Amino acid sequence: MVADGSAAPPSERRPLRVAIIGAGPAGIFAADALTRQDDVPVAVDLIDRLPTPFGLVRHGIAPDHPKMRAIRETLHRSLDQPLVRFVGNVDVGVDLSLEELRAHVDAVVYTYGSAVDRRLGIEGEDLPGSLAATDVVAWYTGHPDADRKRIEAALSDARSVVVVGVGNVALDVARVLARAPEELEPTDMPQHVLDALAAAPVQEVTVLGRRGPAQASFTTQELRELDEMTAATVLVDPAELELDPASEERAAADRVVGRNLGVLRGWAGHAPEPGRVPLRLRFFRRPVRLVGEDRVTGLEVERTAVDGDGRAVGTGELELLPADLVVRSVGYRGTPLPGLPVDERSGTVPHDGTGRVLRDGALAPGEYVAGWIKRGPSGVVGTNKHDARETVDALLADAADGTLAVRGGTDDLVTTLRARGAQPVLLEDWRAIDAAEVALGASRGRARTTMHEREALLAAIRSATT
Ligand code: NAP
Repeated sequence: MVADGSAAPPSERRPLRVAIIGAGPAGIFAADALTRQDDVPVAVDLIDRLPTPFGLVRHGIAPDHPKMRAIRETLHRSLDQPLVRFVGNVDVGVDLSLEELRAHVDAVVYTYGSAVDRRLGIEGEDLPGSLAATDVVAWYTGHPDADRKRIEAALSDARSVVVVGVGNVALDVARVLARAPEELEPTDMPQHVLDALAAAPVQEVTVLGRRGPAQASFTTQELRELDEMTAATVLVDPAELELDPASEERAAADRVVGRNLGVLRGWAGHAPEPGRVPLRLRFFRRPVRLVGEDRVTGLEVERTAVDGDGRAVGTGELELLPADLVVRSVGYRGTPLPGLPVDERSGTVPHDGTGRVLRDGALAPGEYVAGWIKRGPSGVVGTNKHDARETVDALLADAADGTLAVRGGTDDLVTTLRARGAQPVLLEDWRAIDAAEVALGASRGRARTTMHEREALLAAIRSATT
């Protein structure tokens, strides 16, 4: 509605106001796609719960992958665009309801990702010494909500580590745990993380697949990198690389699978080396229960075979793997935002296939979704670019055909938030945090050190403005 109560097309004077919830790669790519077109005048508020942008680029990509993390420079250029306003430190559903947010804008794009871990659903999963990879990753990347005490307590006793799952996150966690302290020293990990990892008594790391090597979901570059560590030796059991005919077919048809097997077979002759951490890749074992009285002492697994469809079939043969730390790395899961439905089974927001949100099966005008909360936790950072583009195309098509219009004089979101006592963090504030992290890193001879406490992040803003 405009002043007279009717809906109007967006104009330069009154652009389409779009709020994007989640300033990770999907949100930033969506903001970029919205502001790099001339057909529909737009103004974007890019909201994040954290005072910092970049989502999983900051709190997901492993800190020992500096080249991958460098994508934040590209993402930053999108934040710098005048039509995009970063509004960090705002929790939608807490600082203001979704309904209230919707009253401030003409459209909302949900890009808040899949923040929580999937569970194994087996006995012993909550014992001390059992962690979710999502929590370990949050901790080593300095996420303000990481449960430091629990993770550092588990690490302080971690001699034998089992990582359950054979995806790229499992490899990240295994690699970080098996690395020599000098390899991590130049990263932007917080100092307490570097200290805890250096002090952890890790003597062996096992990465466990419930199916065979042809069904693993890691990618070849990430796999290969395991063998480039200075103090770890990758070990594989040649018998586990012998494939059934269906898996052989899969390896021949799928280049990634074929290459992965080539890499694994190249390691088949490796033997343990004194003074180096054995990093074992083991397949055909599914977790049955975590064993231990008051903390984890082992993981019971059942040997499996894969059937013609690549599914794991239990053999009934049980085995006990000693472990002081079990990290489950079996995927991320999306959670509902108060006022927004999330499909229980898939952990994603129902949509029409192109990113228009469905509520009770019907199109919900003005609501869109992109990224992991749209398609599930899959793909690399760049996958979100195409995904966000598809959603933005749907939004722009709706603006072009009048489905989406500007509705009346809206109050400014940041003014409203401040009036309610919230402390929105804007781009200039983020620059102050950024500078403080670079300065903290420089004081230790590093390019950056991530500040992990919300209060320290906000203090960096205050000290830059006083
Ligand atoms: P993922 O690739 O989906 O891997 C999950 C793993 O958990 C699979 O091996 C899966 O085995 C296993 N799993 C699931 N349920 C299990 C259970 N109950 N018991 C035992 N194993 C179970 O997920 P992810 O590693 O969390 O990665 C998420 C996304 O981020 C992926 O697209 C990944 O490529 C991406 N990522 C990329 C990079 C990179 O490019 N360097 C780094 C990190 C993450 P099944 O196949 O048998 O279900």
